[in-house]
Amino acid sequence: MSTSPSGGAEQGKPVNLKPGDEAAPGTPGTGDDLCDECSGTGKLRDGKECPNCAGTGHVTSGIGGG
Ligand SMILES: [Zn+2]
Repeated sequence: MSTSPSGGAEQGKPVNLKPGDEAAPGTPGTGDDLCDECSGTGKLRDGKECPNCAGTGHVTSGIGGG
């Protein structure tokens, strides 16, 4: 593999993947799903922001599986 320069802002499509995301939003074959860690509330039991979904309550996950 060749080394790819990183650190610069890529132009085109901003991707903000959350820890719970399996793919970038809009990726074919994926869809919005409730976060398993917080059950879609965006917060954990102690009231803290859910790190898995970044407090959004939902993550992008694959559909159908295989
Ligand atoms: Zn969550």
